[in-house]
Amino acid sequence: MYNFFVRCLLAILLVACTGVEASYLDASRIVRVGLTKLGTPQSFTIEPSTGFIELFNKSKNQAVYSGKAATVVVSIFQGGKIKVAIDNRKSLYYESSELLFSPLGKNPLNLKIKAGGKKSFAYRGTISVIPDKGGLLAVNLVDIEDYLKSVVPSEISTRSPDAAQEAQAIAARTYAIRNLFRHGQGKYQVCDTVHCQVYPGIVKEIAAASRAVKRTEGQILSFSGSPANTVYHSNCGGYLISSKAAWSGTEIKYLSSHFDGISGQEPFCSYGIRFRKNQPTGKLPAPAKDLIAKPLPWNTRKLHHKNFGHRVGMCQDGAIGMGAIGYSARQILAFYYPGTRIETLNYAVPGIKPHIETEKPLVVAMKPAVSSTPLEGPFNPTQISTLTRNSRTNRGKSSLLETLKSISNAKSGSAATGIRKMFWTPAQPGLSRQRNIL
Ligand SMILES: [Zn+2]
Ligand SMILES: [Zn+2]
Repeated sequence: MYNFFVRCLLAILLVACTGVEASYLDASRIVRVGLTKLGTPQSFTIEPSTGFIELFNKSKNQAVYSGKAATVVVSIFQGGKIKVAIDNRKSLYYESSELLFSPLGKNPLNLKIKAGGKKSFAYRGTISVIPDKGGLLAVNLVDIEDYLKSVVPSEISTRSPDAAQEAQAIAARTYAIRNLFRHGQGKYQVCDTVHCQVYPGIVKEIAAASRAVKRTEGQILSFSGSPANTVYHSNCGGYLISSKAAWSGTEIKYLSSHFDGISGQEPFCSYGIRFRKNQPTGKLPAPAKDLIAKPLPWNTRKLHHKNFGHRVGMCQDGAIGMGAIGYSARQILAFYYPGTRIETLNYAVPGIKPHIETEKPLVVAMKPAVSSTPLEGPFNPTQISTLTRNSRTNRGKSSLLETLKSISNAKSGSAATGIRKMFWTPAQPGLSRQRNIL
């Protein structure tokens, strides 16, 4: 009887899966960023830019307040309850749960948030407040393109040529999409520090970086059907080293060791430093010429100048140098991640309807079942992804039943969408995604 039941379920799944291929290109454009720099204080003060706010109780799945609010104080109350005080005139109490705060009205729409008497920061999107470690944790639910408007100028010099900023935008977008499960099944997907990518919110935004984000909307780098591991660093010193030399583990084809430039010329990063210091960058051969990353033994060359960072993947000063000389973002990325290609996430492709952000509550990509086997080499807390391999052996009958349960519990979207979300994972290049779940 049990076997018969399982066989029926398998048949239903097979039908539901027909024609549905899991793809990282379906990623939601809403990303949950843990505002870990704010800590986990006893209370937050939130101010909507418009003077109007909507409060949504995610645990109960209902809007609980919508109206005027200059200042909202969210604090931990007796018995672990959350107290929400609106302009000192209205107090609301909730059992331990997740509360979403969204500004209402016309642009500019953002929320300022501060912990206790500390400095406040402004964020686009929605702020979620969740009880954590005896205090409160703030998570920003933000459109990934808005997230990048803050990440790009935080990660690369704001004076960089346009091409370097565009290359940085694509690398940072890819990095985010690939690392959506870096913090496990936790309360957020990526954090706001160098552990993931630096994200201080609106304060850091500049027009040039926002334009670079817009011009590259939805673009990521892929390799062998997965988002590439687009690690980057400040300055390689003239020679890039391979990911294997830096962190051991499996060899990654596009993260090889090679000279950062054209043979017989100064490395691109020397030009980048000169550009940043307002010195003439000199002349190099025409941009499209001789741009081949030739492999080199990583430890046999003397550095040309002081290096900063792990020296794997894109050298940011090198990208600035290439941009200053006249190379495009595509050429910069082809040089630092050879063999990768640009793909566009489905939300940015005209004619493809995003299936996520129109409904409430805001839904983010679901985490697939994972085993605890580390994906590659020793863990490097600052750069290497902690994604774990989806083990075939981890998918037995019980996980299948759990899967079906979660699909039938999914509040929005069809079963097929549920399955697609459930089984998508940004895997390591070379590892196949879970196309086949049985
Ligand atoms: Zn992180
Ligand atoms: Zn370099």
